[in-house]
Amino acid sequence: MKNTRSLVLTSFALLASAVALVAKPIPGPKGGRILTTEAPHVEFFVQKDRTVAVSFYDKDLKPVVASGQVVNATAEAKTGKVKLEFTAKDGALISTAPMPEGDDYTVVVQVRETAGAKPKNYRVLFHDEVCGECKHAEYACICDDAGGEHKKH
Ligand SMILES: [Zn+2]
Repeated sequence: MKNTRSLVLTSFALLASAVALVAKPIPGPKGGRILTTEAPHVEFFVQKDRTVAVSFYDKDLKPVVASGQVVNATAEAKTGKVKLEFTAKDGALISTAPMPEGDDYTVVVQVRETAGAKPKNYRVLFHDEVCGECKHAEYACICDDAGGEHKKH
């Protein structure tokens, strides 16, 4: 009896920690959104001039210099889709054009580990107002209740 009970408790604890992992977003070192759940991590960060910086990190969120990754993105703005190309700069990949006007639109970020690798797609709902709680922009909010999407204030 005792054994069964502790087994149940253990699997319940495992389940709870798995849920916690999903619910808690990883804070982006630059203040952007970490797209990945496992290393190598990829951060999507909209800079002051609205160009996008995509940065890479190891499992401890130590910066990793971009080395041959290929990134492009499609901003699905209300005024129409805009494709963003990226070039390497200061160890990260920076978009050659700024994000389109406005916010509240989806950005699909496509990351290839190498030019020939299979692409991985990540979706970001872009909101540029700042969250009152964590002080990150809404698209990068790290508050506990922030899932993929965040309510507009
Ligand atoms: Zn927040």
